[in-house]
Amino acid sequence: MSKRPHVVIVGAGFGGLGVAEQLAHVPVDVTLIDRHNYHTFQPLLYQVATSLLNAEDVGAPVRSMFRHQENVTFRMATVAGIDVAGREIQLEDGGPVAYDYLVLAGGATVNYFNTPGAAEHAFPLYTLMNAVKLRNHVLERFEAADRDPNLIEGGALNFVIVGAGPTGVETAGALSDLFYNLLPRDYHQLATENARVIIVDLGKEVLAQFKENLRAYAKEELEGRRVELRLGEAVAEVGPTFVRLKSGEEIKTQTLVWAGGVRANPLADMLGLPQGRGGRVKLNADLSTPDRPEIFVVGDMGEVASDGKVLPQLGSVAMQSGEHVGRQIARRLLDEPGQPFKYWDKGFMATIGRGSAVVEFPNKMTLHGPLAYFAWLGVHLALLSGVRNRIETLWNWGWSALTHDRAARIIIDPKDEEAKQVNLHEA
Ligand SMILES: Cc1cc2nc3c(=O)[nH]c(=O)nc-3n(C[C@H](O)[C@H](O)[C@H](O)COP(=O)(O)OP(=O)(O)OC[C@H]3O[C@@H](n4cnc5c(N)ncnc54)[C@H](O)[C@@H]3O)c2cc1C
Repeated sequence: MSKRPHVVIVGAGFGGLGVAEQLAHVPVDVTLIDRHNYHTFQPLLYQVATSLLNAEDVGAPVRSMFRHQENVTFRMATVAGIDVAGREIQLEDGGPVAYDYLVLAGGATVNYFNTPGAAEHAFPLYTLMNAVKLRNHVLERFEAADRDPNLIEGGALNFVIVGAGPTGVETAGALSDLFYNLLPRDYHQLATENARVIIVDLGKEVLAQFKENLRAYAKEELEGRRVELRLGEAVAEVGPTFVRLKSGEEIKTQTLVWAGGVRANPLADMLGLPQGRGGRVKLNADLSTPDRPEIFVVGDMGEVASDGKVLPQLGSVAMQSGEHVGRQIARRLLDEPGQPFKYWDKGFMATIGRGSAVVEFPNKMTLHGPLAYFAWLGVHLALLSGVRNRIETLWNWGWSALTHDRAARIIIDPKDEEAKQVNLHEA
Protein backbone atom coordinates (compact mmCIF):
# COMPACT_ATOMS: atom_id res chain seq x y z
CA MET A 1 0.00 0.00 0.00
CA SER A 2 1.18 3.50 -0.82
CA LYS A 3 2.76 5.44 2.01
CA ARG A 4 2.68 8.68 0.14
CA PRO A 5 0.68 11.49 1.70
CA HIS A 6 -2.92 11.54 0.50
CA VAL A 7 -4.22 14.89 -0.74
CA VAL A 8 -7.98 15.11 -1.12
CA ILE A 9 -9.30 17.98 -3.25
CA VAL A 10 -13.01 18.76 -3.16
CA GLY A 11 -14.14 20.51 -6.33
CA ALA A 12 -12.86 20.41 -9.90
CA GLY A 13 -13.39 24.10 -10.60
CA PHE A 14 -10.58 26.52 -11.38
CA GLY A 15 -9.22 26.25 -7.83
CA GLY A 16 -9.27 22.45 -7.52
CA LEU A 17 -7.76 21.94 -10.97
CA GLY A 18 -4.99 24.41 -10.12
CA VAL A 19 -4.02 22.39 -7.03
CA ALA A 20 -4.11 19.01 -8.78
CA GLU A 21 -2.08 20.20 -11.76
CA GLN A 22 0.52 21.79 -9.50
CA LEU A 23 0.97 18.46 -7.71
CA ALA A 24 1.84 16.59 -10.93
CA HIS A 25 5.47 15.97 -9.97
CA VAL A 26 5.07 15.90 -6.20
CA PRO A 27 5.25 12.51 -4.38
CA VAL A 28 1.64 12.50 -3.20
CA ASP A 29 -1.50 10.60 -4.13
CA VAL A 30 -4.31 12.94 -5.07
CA THR A 31 -8.02 12.19 -4.95
CA LEU A 32 -10.01 14.81 -6.80
CA ILE A 33 -13.72 14.73 -6.01
CA ASP A 34 -16.53 16.53 -7.79
CA ARG A 35 -20.26 15.99 -7.89
CA HIS A 36 -20.07 16.30 -11.68
CA ASN A 37 -17.80 14.38 -14.02
CA TYR A 38 -16.89 17.63 -15.75
CA HIS A 39 -15.26 20.96 -15.04
CA THR A 40 -17.58 23.91 -15.66
CA PHE A 41 -16.27 27.07 -17.28
CA GLN A 42 -18.59 29.42 -15.42
CA PRO A 43 -17.73 32.64 -17.30
CA LEU A 44 -19.48 31.28 -20.41
CA LEU A 45 -22.58 29.87 -18.70
CA TYR A 46 -24.60 32.87 -19.80
CA GLN A 47 -23.86 31.94 -23.43
CA VAL A 48 -25.32 28.48 -22.83
CA ALA A 49 -28.37 30.07 -21.20
CA THR A 50 -28.85 32.36 -24.21
CA SER A 51 -28.41 29.63 -26.85
CA LEU A 52 -25.04 30.81 -28.19
CA LEU A 53 -23.08 27.77 -26.99
CA ASN A 54 -23.88 24.12 -26.36
CA ALA A 55 -23.57 22.83 -22.81
CA GLU A 56 -20.74 20.56 -23.91
CA ASP A 57 -18.71 23.55 -25.11
CA VAL A 58 -18.26 24.87 -21.56
CA GLY A 59 -17.94 21.54 -19.72
CA ALA A 60 -14.75 19.48 -19.91
CA PRO A 61 -14.61 15.86 -18.64
CA VAL A 62 -12.30 15.79 -15.60
CA ARG A 63 -10.99 12.29 -16.28
CA SER A 64 -9.67 13.28 -19.69
CA MET A 65 -7.87 16.26 -18.13
CA PHE A 66 -5.83 13.97 -15.89
CA ARG A 67 -5.36 11.16 -18.37
CA HIS A 68 -1.59 11.67 -18.26
CA GLN A 69 -1.24 12.52 -14.57
CA GLU A 70 -1.09 9.19 -12.81
CA ASN A 71 -1.01 10.47 -9.23
CA VAL A 72 -4.57 11.84 -9.64
CA THR A 73 -7.62 9.64 -9.06
CA PHE A 74 -10.96 11.22 -9.90
CA ARG A 75 -14.13 10.32 -8.01
CA MET A 76 -17.51 11.57 -9.04
CA ALA A 77 -19.26 12.01 -5.72
CA THR A 78 -20.90 14.61 -3.54
CA VAL A 79 -19.14 15.47 -0.30
CA ALA A 80 -21.71 15.55 2.47
CA GLY A 81 -19.62 16.04 5.60
CA ILE A 82 -16.17 16.76 7.00
CA ASP A 83 -14.76 15.18 10.14
CA VAL A 84 -12.04 17.68 10.91
CA ALA A 85 -10.76 15.89 14.02
CA GLY A 86 -10.79 12.44 12.37
CA ARG A 87 -9.26 13.80 9.14
CA GLU A 88 -11.79 12.30 6.79
CA ILE A 89 -14.59 13.44 4.56
CA GLN A 90 -17.94 11.77 4.11
CA LEU A 91 -19.43 11.15 0.70
CA GLU A 92 -23.15 11.12 0.05
CA ASP A 93 -22.96 7.65 -1.52
CA GLY A 94 -19.98 5.73 -0.24
CA GLY A 95 -17.72 5.49 2.71
CA PRO A 96 -15.44 8.06 4.29
CA VAL A 97 -12.26 9.17 2.55
CA ALA A 98 -9.27 9.79 4.82
CA TYR A 99 -6.80 12.55 4.04
CA ASP A 100 -3.43 13.89 5.11
CA TYR A 101 -4.10 17.18 3.38
CA LEU A 102 -7.55 18.46 2.49
CA VAL A 103 -8.12 21.23 -0.05
CA LEU A 104 -11.62 22.64 -0.20
CA ALA A 105 -12.41 24.15 -3.58
CA GLY A 106 -16.20 23.83 -3.62
CA GLY A 107 -16.82 27.33 -5.00
CA ALA A 108 -19.82 29.49 -4.26
CA THR A 109 -23.54 29.17 -4.51
CA VAL A 110 -26.42 31.55 -4.99
CA ASN A 111 -27.38 33.92 -2.18
CA TYR A 112 -31.01 35.03 -2.25
CA PHE A 113 -30.61 37.15 0.90
CA ASN A 114 -33.85 35.61 2.24
CA THR A 115 -35.91 37.29 -0.49
CA PRO A 116 -39.39 35.72 -0.27
CA GLY A 117 -40.16 33.43 -3.21
CA ALA A 118 -36.68 33.68 -4.77
CA ALA A 119 -35.58 30.14 -3.93
CA GLU A 120 -38.79 28.75 -5.44
CA HIS A 121 -39.10 30.89 -8.55
CA ALA A 122 -35.77 32.48 -9.50
CA PHE A 123 -33.29 31.05 -12.00
CA PRO A 124 -29.71 31.03 -10.68
CA LEU A 125 -26.75 30.75 -13.05
CA TYR A 126 -23.97 28.81 -11.32
CA THR A 127 -24.03 25.36 -12.86
CA LEU A 128 -24.37 23.94 -16.33
CA MET A 129 -27.76 22.52 -15.37
CA ASN A 130 -28.86 26.01 -14.25
CA ALA A 131 -27.87 27.37 -17.67
CA VAL A 132 -29.66 24.62 -19.61
CA LYS A 133 -32.81 25.04 -17.49
CA LEU A 134 -32.81 28.77 -18.11
CA ARG A 135 -32.31 28.27 -21.85
CA ASN A 136 -35.22 25.80 -22.00
CA HIS A 137 -37.40 28.14 -20.00
CA VAL A 138 -36.62 31.21 -22.14
CA LEU A 139 -37.29 29.35 -25.40
CA GLU A 140 -40.45 27.82 -23.95
CA ARG A 141 -41.77 31.33 -23.08
CA PHE A 142 -41.56 32.28 -26.75
CA GLU A 143 -43.22 29.04 -27.87
CA ALA A 144 -46.01 29.57 -25.33
CA ALA A 145 -46.53 33.19 -26.41
CA ASP A 146 -46.58 32.10 -30.04
CA ARG A 147 -49.36 29.63 -29.26
CA ASP A 148 -51.30 32.17 -27.22
CA PRO A 149 -50.30 35.85 -27.71
CA ASN A 150 -52.52 36.82 -24.76
CA LEU A 151 -49.73 35.51 -22.53
CA ILE A 152 -47.59 38.52 -23.47
CA GLU A 153 -49.98 40.74 -21.50
CA GLY A 154 -49.34 38.47 -18.49
CA GLY A 155 -45.56 39.03 -18.72
CA ALA A 156 -44.52 35.85 -20.56
CA LEU A 157 -41.97 37.81 -22.57
CA ASN A 158 -40.70 39.99 -19.70
CA PHE A 159 -37.30 38.83 -18.46
CA VAL A 160 -36.01 40.32 -15.22
CA ILE A 161 -32.40 40.02 -14.11
CA VAL A 162 -31.35 40.81 -10.55
CA GLY A 163 -27.83 42.19 -10.41
CA ALA A 164 -26.02 44.72 -12.58
CA GLY A 165 -22.60 43.10 -12.12
CA PRO A 166 -20.81 41.28 -14.97
CA THR A 167 -23.07 38.19 -14.91
CA GLY A 168 -26.28 40.25 -14.97
CA VAL A 169 -25.03 42.63 -17.66
CA GLU A 170 -23.64 39.86 -19.88
CA THR A 171 -26.86 37.86 -19.61
CA ALA A 172 -29.04 40.91 -20.32
CA GLY A 173 -26.96 41.89 -23.36
CA ALA A 174 -27.05 38.36 -24.74
CA LEU A 175 -30.83 38.06 -24.22
CA SER A 176 -31.31 41.38 -26.00
CA ASP A 177 -29.26 40.14 -29.00
CA LEU A 178 -31.33 36.95 -29.08
CA PHE A 179 -34.72 38.63 -28.74
CA TYR A 180 -34.27 41.59 -31.08
CA ASN A 181 -31.88 40.26 -33.75
CA LEU A 182 -32.58 36.56 -34.15
CA LEU A 183 -36.02 35.56 -32.90
CA PRO A 184 -37.98 38.10 -35.01
CA ARG A 185 -36.78 36.21 -38.10
CA ASP A 186 -38.12 32.89 -36.79
CA TYR A 187 -41.45 33.90 -35.26
CA HIS A 188 -43.57 35.18 -38.13
CA GLN A 189 -46.75 35.62 -36.12
CA LEU A 190 -45.37 36.70 -32.75
CA ALA A 191 -44.78 40.35 -31.87
CA THR A 192 -41.27 39.68 -30.54
CA GLU A 193 -40.67 43.43 -30.19
CA ASN A 194 -42.84 43.19 -27.07
CA ALA A 195 -40.14 41.20 -25.27
CA ARG A 196 -38.53 43.16 -22.44
CA VAL A 197 -35.22 42.72 -20.63
CA ILE A 198 -35.05 44.49 -17.28
CA ILE A 199 -32.09 44.69 -14.88
CA VAL A 200 -32.81 45.44 -11.21
CA ASP A 201 -29.98 46.40 -8.86
CA LEU A 202 -29.81 47.96 -5.43
CA GLY A 203 -26.74 49.98 -6.47
CA LYS A 204 -26.91 53.10 -8.60
CA GLU A 205 -24.46 51.88 -11.25
CA VAL A 206 -24.04 49.04 -13.69
CA LEU A 207 -20.70 47.20 -13.50
CA ALA A 208 -19.97 49.07 -10.27
CA GLN A 209 -16.51 47.50 -9.89
CA PHE A 210 -15.30 49.07 -13.15
CA LYS A 211 -13.97 52.60 -13.70
CA GLU A 212 -16.44 55.40 -14.28
CA ASN A 213 -15.95 55.77 -18.03
CA LEU A 214 -16.63 52.04 -18.49
CA ARG A 215 -19.71 52.19 -16.29
CA ALA A 216 -21.09 55.06 -18.35
CA TYR A 217 -20.31 53.24 -21.60
CA ALA A 218 -21.95 50.03 -20.34
CA LYS A 219 -25.10 51.89 -19.30
CA GLU A 220 -25.40 53.62 -22.66
CA GLU A 221 -24.79 50.37 -24.55
CA LEU A 222 -27.39 48.48 -22.53
CA GLU A 223 -30.00 51.17 -23.03
CA GLY A 224 -29.17 51.25 -26.75
CA ARG A 225 -29.90 47.53 -26.77
CA ARG A 226 -33.31 48.13 -25.18
CA VAL A 227 -32.31 46.78 -21.76
CA GLU A 228 -34.35 48.64 -19.13
CA LEU A 229 -32.52 49.58 -15.95
CA ARG A 230 -34.07 49.80 -12.50
CA LEU A 231 -31.12 51.02 -10.45
CA GLY A 232 -31.32 51.82 -6.75
CA GLU A 233 -34.13 49.25 -6.57
CA ALA A 234 -34.32 45.96 -4.70
CA VAL A 235 -36.50 42.91 -5.21
CA ALA A 236 -38.92 42.50 -2.32
CA GLU A 237 -40.76 39.37 -3.45
CA VAL A 238 -40.76 36.88 -6.28
CA GLY A 239 -43.81 34.96 -7.42
CA PRO A 240 -44.45 32.60 -10.32
CA THR A 241 -45.83 35.43 -12.48
CA PHE A 242 -44.48 38.61 -10.91
CA VAL A 243 -41.59 40.37 -9.24
CA ARG A 244 -42.38 43.03 -6.65
CA LEU A 245 -39.79 45.73 -6.06
CA LYS A 246 -39.18 47.53 -2.75
CA SER A 247 -40.62 50.71 -4.29
CA GLY A 248 -43.93 48.86 -4.73
CA GLU A 249 -43.64 48.49 -8.50
CA GLU A 250 -44.81 45.09 -9.69
CA ILE A 251 -43.38 43.67 -12.92
CA LYS A 252 -45.30 40.86 -14.56
CA THR A 253 -42.81 38.14 -15.42
CA GLN A 254 -42.33 34.41 -15.42
CA THR A 255 -38.55 34.67 -15.55
CA LEU A 256 -36.31 36.12 -12.89
CA VAL A 257 -32.60 35.45 -13.36
CA TRP A 258 -30.75 35.82 -10.08
CA ALA A 259 -27.27 37.24 -10.57
CA GLY A 260 -27.50 39.20 -7.37
CA GLY A 261 -25.00 37.68 -5.01
CA VAL A 262 -23.13 34.61 -3.88
CA ARG A 263 -22.24 32.85 -0.68
CA ALA A 264 -19.58 30.26 -0.01
CA ASN A 265 -20.44 26.61 -0.62
CA PRO A 266 -22.22 25.16 2.47
CA LEU A 267 -19.20 22.90 3.03
CA ALA A 268 -17.57 26.02 4.50
CA ASP A 269 -20.11 25.96 7.33
CA MET A 270 -19.16 22.38 8.24
CA LEU A 271 -15.59 23.16 9.21
CA GLY A 272 -16.48 24.94 12.43
CA LEU A 273 -13.82 27.52 11.58
CA PRO A 274 -14.17 31.33 11.49
CA GLN A 275 -15.97 32.65 8.43
CA GLY A 276 -16.02 36.10 6.88
CA ARG A 277 -18.39 37.92 4.54
CA GLY A 278 -20.61 35.61 2.49
CA GLY A 279 -19.57 32.63 4.62
CA ARG A 280 -16.05 32.52 3.12
CA VAL A 281 -13.58 30.66 5.37
CA LYS A 282 -11.00 32.91 7.02
CA LEU A 283 -7.48 31.87 6.07
CA ASN A 284 -3.84 32.22 6.99
CA ALA A 285 -1.64 34.09 4.53
CA ASP A 286 -0.54 30.78 2.93
CA LEU A 287 -4.26 29.82 2.49
CA SER A 288 -4.26 27.13 5.18
CA THR A 289 -6.95 27.38 7.85
CA PRO A 290 -6.30 28.71 11.35
CA ASP A 291 -5.55 25.85 13.81
CA ARG A 292 -5.89 23.28 11.02
CA PRO A 293 -2.68 23.52 8.98
CA GLU A 294 -3.57 20.36 7.01
CA ILE A 295 -6.71 22.00 5.59
CA PHE A 296 -6.48 24.59 2.82
CA VAL A 297 -9.27 26.51 1.11
CA VAL A 298 -8.96 27.98 -2.38
CA GLY A 299 -11.15 29.98 -4.75
CA ASP A 300 -14.63 31.27 -3.98
CA MET A 301 -15.01 29.31 -0.74
CA GLY A 302 -12.15 31.07 1.04
CA GLU A 303 -11.38 34.60 2.05
CA VAL A 304 -8.37 34.58 -0.24
CA ALA A 305 -6.20 37.65 0.39
CA SER A 306 -3.05 39.07 -1.13
CA ASP A 307 -0.99 41.78 0.58
CA GLY A 308 -3.65 41.89 3.31
CA LYS A 309 -6.47 42.66 0.83
CA VAL A 310 -9.36 40.20 0.43
CA LEU A 311 -9.74 39.44 -3.28
CA PRO A 312 -12.96 39.23 -5.30
CA GLN A 313 -14.40 35.84 -6.29
CA LEU A 314 -12.88 35.50 -9.74
CA GLY A 315 -11.66 32.66 -11.92
CA SER A 316 -8.10 34.01 -11.93
CA VAL A 317 -8.06 34.24 -8.13
CA ALA A 318 -9.32 30.66 -7.85
CA MET A 319 -6.78 29.34 -10.35
CA GLN A 320 -3.81 31.15 -8.81
CA SER A 321 -4.82 30.30 -5.24
CA GLY A 322 -5.10 26.63 -6.26
CA GLU A 323 -1.65 26.63 -7.82
CA HIS A 324 -0.28 28.34 -4.72
CA VAL A 325 -1.70 25.67 -2.42
CA GLY A 326 -0.21 22.94 -4.63
CA ARG A 327 3.18 24.60 -4.10
CA GLN A 328 2.59 24.93 -0.34
CA ILE A 329 1.83 21.22 0.01
CA ALA A 330 5.05 20.42 -1.88
CA ARG A 331 6.96 22.70 0.52
CA ARG A 332 5.43 21.04 3.58
CA LEU A 333 6.74 17.68 2.40
CA LEU A 334 10.21 19.22 2.33
CA ASP A 335 9.69 20.85 5.75
CA GLU A 336 9.95 24.27 4.17
CA PRO A 337 7.95 27.15 5.69
CA GLY A 338 4.70 28.32 4.09
CA GLN A 339 4.65 31.35 1.83
CA PRO A 340 1.99 34.05 1.71
CA PHE A 341 -0.25 34.02 -1.36
CA LYS A 342 0.50 36.78 -3.86
CA TYR A 343 -2.05 37.52 -6.55
CA TRP A 344 -0.99 38.55 -10.02
CA ASP A 345 -3.74 40.92 -11.10
CA LYS A 346 -4.34 40.73 -14.84
CA GLY A 347 -7.33 43.11 -14.83
CA PHE A 348 -10.95 42.27 -15.54
CA MET A 349 -13.41 42.40 -18.38
CA ALA A 350 -17.09 41.93 -19.27
CA THR A 351 -19.18 41.84 -22.45
CA ILE A 352 -22.27 43.94 -22.92
CA GLY A 353 -23.46 42.22 -26.05
CA ARG A 354 -22.34 41.41 -29.54
CA GLY A 355 -19.39 43.62 -30.50
CA SER A 356 -19.29 45.42 -27.20
CA ALA A 357 -17.21 44.88 -24.05
CA VAL A 358 -15.21 46.68 -21.37
CA VAL A 359 -11.70 45.89 -20.16
CA GLU A 360 -9.91 47.40 -17.18
CA PHE A 361 -6.19 46.70 -16.98
CA PRO A 362 -4.28 46.50 -13.66
CA ASN A 363 -2.61 49.86 -14.40
CA LYS A 364 -6.16 51.32 -14.58
CA MET A 365 -6.02 51.83 -18.34
CA THR A 366 -9.30 50.94 -19.99
CA LEU A 367 -10.63 49.71 -23.29
CA HIS A 368 -14.18 49.50 -24.58
CA GLY A 369 -16.08 48.75 -27.77
CA PRO A 370 -15.33 46.20 -30.50
CA LEU A 371 -11.60 45.99 -29.70
CA ALA A 372 -12.42 45.13 -26.08
CA TYR A 373 -14.92 42.58 -27.37
CA PHE A 374 -12.28 40.83 -29.47
CA ALA A 375 -9.88 40.90 -26.49
CA TRP A 376 -12.61 39.28 -24.39
CA LEU A 377 -13.21 36.57 -27.03
CA GLY A 378 -9.49 35.81 -27.25
CA VAL A 379 -8.94 35.59 -23.49
CA HIS A 380 -11.95 33.36 -22.90
CA LEU A 381 -11.10 31.10 -25.80
CA ALA A 382 -7.57 30.67 -24.45
CA LEU A 383 -8.85 29.90 -20.94
CA LEU A 384 -11.37 27.25 -22.04
CA SER A 385 -10.28 23.71 -21.24
CA GLY A 386 -9.68 21.33 -24.14
CA VAL A 387 -8.92 21.80 -27.82
CA ARG A 388 -12.29 20.34 -28.89
CA ASN A 389 -14.16 22.86 -26.74
CA ARG A 390 -12.11 25.72 -28.14
CA ILE A 391 -12.74 24.70 -31.75
CA GLU A 392 -16.47 24.23 -31.18
CA THR A 393 -16.77 27.51 -29.32
CA LEU A 394 -14.86 29.38 -32.01
CA TRP A 395 -17.07 27.78 -34.66
CA ASN A 396 -20.25 28.76 -32.80
CA TRP A 397 -19.05 32.32 -32.26
CA GLY A 398 -17.98 32.64 -35.89
CA TRP A 399 -21.28 31.22 -37.16
CA SER A 400 -23.24 33.59 -34.94
CA ALA A 401 -21.12 36.59 -36.03
CA LEU A 402 -21.72 35.82 -39.70
CA THR A 403 -25.38 34.83 -39.57
CA HIS A 404 -26.79 36.14 -36.25
CA ASP A 405 -27.91 32.53 -35.79
CA ARG A 406 -27.32 30.54 -32.60
CA ALA A 407 -26.34 26.94 -32.20
CA ALA A 408 -28.23 25.78 -29.15
CA ARG A 409 -31.86 26.56 -29.68
CA ILE A 410 -33.52 23.24 -29.13
CA ILE A 411 -35.56 22.75 -26.00
CA ILE A 412 -34.29 19.67 -24.19
CA ASP A 413 -36.23 18.78 -21.11
CA PRO A 414 -34.80 15.59 -19.58
CA LYS A 415 -37.97 15.10 -17.57
CA ASP A 416 -39.98 15.13 -20.78
CA GLU A 417 -37.84 12.48 -22.39
CA GLU A 418 -38.01 10.26 -19.31
CA ALA A 419 -41.75 10.64 -19.14
CA LYS A 420 -42.08 9.74 -22.80
CA GLN A 421 -39.93 6.66 -22.39
CA VAL A 422 -41.89 5.50 -19.35
CA ASN A 423 -45.11 5.94 -21.33
CA LEU A 424 -43.70 3.96 -24.24
CA HIS A 425 -42.65 1.10 -21.97
CA GLU A 426 -46.01 1.08 -20.28
CA ALA A 427 -47.94 1.15 -23.55
C1 LIG B 1 -22.16 33.01 -14.26
C2 LIG B 1 -20.76 33.30 -13.80
C3 LIG B 1 -19.92 34.08 -14.59
C4 LIG B 1 -18.62 34.35 -14.18
N1 LIG B 1 -17.80 35.11 -14.98
C5 LIG B 1 -16.52 35.31 -14.61
C6 LIG B 1 -15.62 36.02 -15.46
O1 LIG B 1 -15.99 36.48 -16.53
N2 LIG B 1 -14.33 36.18 -15.05
C7 LIG B 1 -13.89 35.67 -13.85
O2 LIG B 1 -12.71 35.79 -13.52
N3 LIG B 1 -14.72 35.00 -13.03
C8 LIG B 1 -16.01 34.81 -13.37
N4 LIG B 1 -16.86 34.13 -12.54
C9 LIG B 1 -16.36 33.67 -11.26
C10 LIG B 1 -15.55 32.40 -11.42
O3 LIG B 1 -16.21 31.51 -12.28
C11 LIG B 1 -15.37 31.79 -10.03
O4 LIG B 1 -14.68 32.72 -9.24
C12 LIG B 1 -14.56 30.51 -10.11
O5 LIG B 1 -15.22 29.55 -10.90
C13 LIG B 1 -14.34 29.94 -8.71
O6 LIG B 1 -13.61 28.77 -8.82
P1 LIG B 1 -13.70 27.68 -7.67
O7 LIG B 1 -12.74 26.61 -8.06
O8 LIG B 1 -13.55 28.34 -6.35
O9 LIG B 1 -15.17 27.16 -7.72
P2 LIG B 1 -16.04 26.55 -8.92
O10 LIG B 1 -15.48 26.88 -10.26
O11 LIG B 1 -17.43 26.97 -8.63
O12 LIG B 1 -15.90 24.97 -8.71
C14 LIG B 1 -16.44 24.34 -7.59
C15 LIG B 1 -16.57 22.86 -7.90
O13 LIG B 1 -16.93 22.18 -6.71
C16 LIG B 1 -17.90 21.20 -6.98
N5 LIG B 1 -18.64 20.97 -5.74
C17 LIG B 1 -19.32 21.87 -5.02
N6 LIG B 1 -19.83 21.30 -3.91
C18 LIG B 1 -19.47 20.01 -3.94
C19 LIG B 1 -19.71 18.91 -3.06
N7 LIG B 1 -20.42 19.03 -1.95
N8 LIG B 1 -19.21 17.70 -3.41
C20 LIG B 1 -18.49 17.54 -4.55
N9 LIG B 1 -18.22 18.56 -5.40
C21 LIG B 1 -18.72 19.78 -5.10
C22 LIG B 1 -18.74 21.82 -8.09
O14 LIG B 1 -19.41 20.83 -8.85
C23 LIG B 1 -17.68 22.57 -8.90
O15 LIG B 1 -17.18 21.79 -9.97
C24 LIG B 1 -18.17 33.86 -12.93
C25 LIG B 1 -19.02 33.08 -12.14
C26 LIG B 1 -20.30 32.80 -12.57
C27 LIG B 1 -21.20 31.95 -11.72
